[in-house]
Amino acid sequence: MSRTARKVNARAAVSARGGVGYPARMSQSPPPIGVAVFPVTPLQQNCTLVWCRRTLKAAIIDPGASVDALLAAVAKQGLTLDAIWITHGHLDHAGGAAELQEKTGLDIVGPHPDDQFWIEGIPAQGQMYGLPEARAFTPTHWLADGDRLTLGETEWEVLHCPGHTPGHVVFFHRPTRFAFVGDVLFAGSIGRTDFPMGNHQALLDAITGKLWPLGDEVTFVPGHGPTSTFGRERASNPFVGDAAMAAGR
Ligand SMILES: [Zn+2]
Ligand SMILES: [Zn+2]
Repeated sequence: MSRTARKVNARAAVSARGGVGYPARMSQSPPPIGVAVFPVTPLQQNCTLVWCRRTLKAAIIDPGASVDALLAAVAKQGLTLDAIWITHGHLDHAGGAAELQEKTGLDIVGPHPDDQFWIEGIPAQGQMYGLPEARAFTPTHWLADGDRLTLGETEWEVLHCPGHTPGHVVFFHRPTRFAFVGDVLFAGSIGRTDFPMGNHQALLDAITGKLWPLGDEVTFVPGHGPTSTFGRERASNPFVGDAAMAAGR
């Protein structure tokens, strides 16, 4: 399936203006961030557009493909692109980053340097998964645990969460309790760890040791599938829910 032939479809749960799953306590004043999710690539990866509502500066998180359609969506919403953020080096998340950078001149920010071998392998992954135009790149800035990113007037925390890939990072906006977790955690599941350098225990440790302490009320956009909250996953996720973790001890 060619990149150009694929349309970008905003997920039904997300309005054309963005805005999904804001915590109730933010309801008195408009939330400071906007969010819109666009599944891209045959793997239906949740490429996400996030922006500062005051400055309309936006970041594209994980542009796996469909770059022209993503740029059209940005223009339609009147946003100014500020950066490309990458959670990890897999094709479906990072395969369009080189093309997007070429067309916009933006910085590519992330992932953690331990994913360099995955980024170098993007062309080979593209051959395998039917995205032959996907290219490797060198991030403008690699990320480390504890880094902070600024987008307009909003600030984001970077958490290094290895396991699915060794250099996977998560982006967290503390004021709205909103996280972009890539393929670390899904609604009802967790990331695969059977790839090279995957580490199941490291993934469990990252989720329970780094994500859960951020709070049950945190809403997250995963790399694939619907949004959820950490609290919902703690209550019911068969891999990392509280019951599953207690049974595994
Ligand atoms: Zn992945
Ligand atoms: Zn993925």
